[in-house]
Amino acid sequence: KSGFVAIIGRPNVGKSTLMNSLIGQKVAIMSDKPQTTRNKILCVLTLADAQILFIDTPGIHKPKHKLGEYMVKTAENTLHEVDVVAFVVDATEELGAGEQYILERLKTVKTPVLLVINKIDQISKNNILPIITQYTNCFDFSAVVPISALEHTNLDHLTDEIKKHL
Ligand code: GDP
Ligand code: MG
Repeated sequence: KSGFVAIIGRPNVGKSTLMNSLIGQKVAIMSDKPQTTRNKILCVLTLADAQILFIDTPGIHKPKHKLGEYMVKTAENTLHEVDVVAFVVDATEELGAGEQYILERLKTVKTPVLLVINKIDQISKNNILPIITQYTNCFDFSAVVPISALEHTNLDHLTDEIKKHL
């Protein structure tokens, strides 16, 4: 099994940390070279039964100018081409305008979307459910995976959910 996963989410939610944690655990290759003009492969994760290629998908935000518009378009095209979208959010922050904008864009996409709730090391267990509910009320995710990228919590659950769609 193998396939592509687009990682999306606002700045500072922990996308880079997540990539580093996955690589630290079970690694393969990391590349900064753009694979196409619009995507770059962040890492190739080789598991016993699957190979997962993570793609950085920057620029899903409200465009402020023409170049921005182009970048947003190409980023959105990526979402149609991958096997799974991993939407990373920060458990310590409210669902805000940045997330709402991304969710609106995701509604035009048929690709399965995983909600990855990061930084759960920063909140109490009781607070996870209300956060999940906020998001699942606005969008039909194929799964919800709470993680701590920093502490490597629940990353196996994340890769298991991804593998279901490869
Ligand atoms: P990106 O902009 O989405 O790539 O976010 P980064 O990976 O650069 O992370 C932004 C900040 O959040 C950094 O200071 C990270 O150390 C921190 N961070 C990322 N993941 C976690 C996490 O699981 N728990 C905590 N407490 N902090 C995290
Ligand atoms: Mg980053």
